[in-house]
Amino acid sequence: MAENEIEIRGLRKSFGENEVLRGIDLDVARGEVVCVIGPSGSGKSTLLRCVNLLEEPSAGRIFVGGTEVTDLDVDIDAVRRRIGMVFQQFNLFPHVTVTENLTLPQRRVLKRGRAGAASVARENLERVGLADKAGAYPAQLSGGQQQRVAIARALAMNPEVMLFDEPTSALDPELVGEVLAVMRMLAAEGMTMMVVTHEMSFAREVADRVVFMDEGAIVEQGPAEQVVGSPRHERTRNFLNRIL
Ligand code: ADP
Ligand code: MG
Repeated sequence: MAENEIEIRGLRKSFGENEVLRGIDLDVARGEVVCVIGPSGSGKSTLLRCVNLLEEPSAGRIFVGGTEVTDLDVDIDAVRRRIGMVFQQFNLFPHVTVTENLTLPQRRVLKRGRAGAASVARENLERVGLADKAGAYPAQLSGGQQQRVAIARALAMNPEVMLFDEPTSALDPELVGEVLAVMRMLAAEGMTMMVVTHEMSFAREVADRVVFMDEGAIVEQGPAEQVVGSPRHERTRNFLNRIL
């Protein structure tokens, strides 16, 4: 049974006159990893941001785990709790330790107690290989370590879905691998993931499906070896030629 964790139907989003999503239909099955690729400005970030309601869709419907998140009566906080998001800029809280970065949202949003939150934090720092940095401050960590903390912080909320928006684009090249390794582990564990990325080797290796977007629409999608390996559309070929 391929149950859909995410269903997107006729999604449109305009900023003023600028229509940046022009009718997106996309399903992501439970446990599936979908990589979204496409030129800058094609609407990739806006698409992810609509899924967890950081942007309000102009039209269309989005379901996450069977709940319509575009329902006007939906509890936005309850929706966001089910969705972890990792950004290009790590967005850690700079003035507290790594552990507190993981415990504060659990306590505030999930109302976990101090000990419970600390134990979940420890567990997730171990998962991303940073148990030894629990007491450090974000500025004391490398970019790759900070991004792994950001992933651990999202995981500590027990999300059903993880959204990644160019998680390695701000990193020095030698730090990209450690972040991709954590994402590979999550994929192997069966996490449902939407990943906006320019890392084609990651897409080829990990994605169940690659979606190519241009000008607010999905141009083509399919297995990575098809979309990246032998794209059908000229726009996809042009894009890949530019980045590879
Ligand atoms: P991508 O992530 O593919 O680079 P984005 O989704 O960030 O693309 O942006 C798509 C288009 O939407 C761009 O033209 C961008 O300028 C515009 N856009 C994104 N966010 C906003 C916003 N908050 N206000 C106005 N325009 C925006
Ligand atoms: Mg973007």
